[in-house]
Amino acid sequence: MKEQLSRRELIKKSGMAALAFALPVPFASFTKFNFMTDNKKFDVIIIGGSYAGLSAAMALGRSMRKVLLIDSGNPCNKQTPHSHNFITHDGEKPAVIAQKAKEQILDYPTVTYISDLAISGMKTNEGFEIKTQAGIELTARKLIFATGIKDMMPDIKGFSECWGISVIHCPYCHGYEYRGKRTGIMANGDKAFHIASLVNNLTDRLTVLTNGKVDFKEEQLQKLKRHTIEIIETPVAEIEHRNGLLKNVIFNNGSELEFDAVYAAVPFRQHSDIPANLGCELTETGHIKVDLFQKTTVPGVYACGDNSSPMRSVAYAVAMGNLAGAMANMELTTEDF
Ligand SMILES: Cc1cc2nc3c(=O)[nH]c(=O)nc-3n(C[C@H](O)[C@H](O)[C@H](O)COP(=O)(O)OP(=O)(O)OC[C@H]3O[C@@H](n4cnc5c(N)ncnc54)[C@H](O)[C@@H]3O)c2cc1C
Repeated sequence: MKEQLSRRELIKKSGMAALAFALPVPFASFTKFNFMTDNKKFDVIIIGGSYAGLSAAMALGRSMRKVLLIDSGNPCNKQTPHSHNFITHDGEKPAVIAQKAKEQILDYPTVTYISDLAISGMKTNEGFEIKTQAGIELTARKLIFATGIKDMMPDIKGFSECWGISVIHCPYCHGYEYRGKRTGIMANGDKAFHIASLVNNLTDRLTVLTNGKVDFKEEQLQKLKRHTIEIIETPVAEIEHRNGLLKNVIFNNGSELEFDAVYAAVPFRQHSDIPANLGCELTETGHIKVDLFQKTTVPGVYACGDNSSPMRSVAYAVAMGNLAGAMANMELTTEDF
């Protein structure tokens, strides 16, 4: 206990915490670890040190596994002012949740955290080798990918500035804050219908912006009509906002409509191509294929969080990370015991 406290105090007092969490890639930052002299062999390397990765690290740190977290500091929710729907942290700033987790994880002496970008991975006889942008080569017996996904912003002026603030992806995360407000759904077909069915409970001021010809089945159209949900096909040209807070949606034909919030379903791609390069299969939706224990299709490689699940939430990322950490530890235990 004494050693753990002094470790956290040391990091805080020396300002290393700020250094470790804030240094931009490619300058790897170290938390009580010297890559020139220390052993670069780990039991587990976790790539991605946001909620899923941090959670996996906690399970492994508590099992006294030598574990390295590599994080490039680019979580998907970084622009969101407040994160919701995660008990004990409801309404907290996303970075504050991650920061608290990092502090707790660094209390475990076998856990190391670096700010860097993993750029390649390779299978070796003993496990895996990872190279980073800062030029460090590391090895581990198991890998956990907690790399998240990258949301692809459409080419609509103002869209990306509002993303996570008033252009939102999930009713569970931000819907309550916009209850009763003028709300748009920028999507078409089954996706739009699904969002409309969820959001209809939160506001009766709903408009679907299909950005082109409607793609609803007849029964879907009837249901939308029954709930007096308007549909606008005219393509969206611009989202007018002030500091990310929506004011008007401006259409191609020059007309405009006031909104407080717009739900949008955007495409995504994997944040890291290392899992695919290692041979991890992807699902039809583009997620890393995992089994019930977060194992990918490549032995010794795990994935957790947004990269392997369409259910995006901090709580679920933490749960998946926790499971991935425990399962990686169990595999090591089974091999060694
Ligand atoms: C705009 C927005 C708002 C949201 N709001 C909420 C909310 O209010 N409540 C809620 O519960 N959920 C919310 N979510 C969902 C939630 O943020 C995600 O489910 C969660 O962040 C997933 O955690 P993760 O660890 O899997 O991925 P992320 O948090 O996205 O983190 C992935 C990490 O991996 C790192 N990384 C990727 N590749 C590499 C590499 N090669 N080397 C090193 N590091 C790498 C990235 O830099 C990043 O730090 C929101 C999502 C979005 C997009």
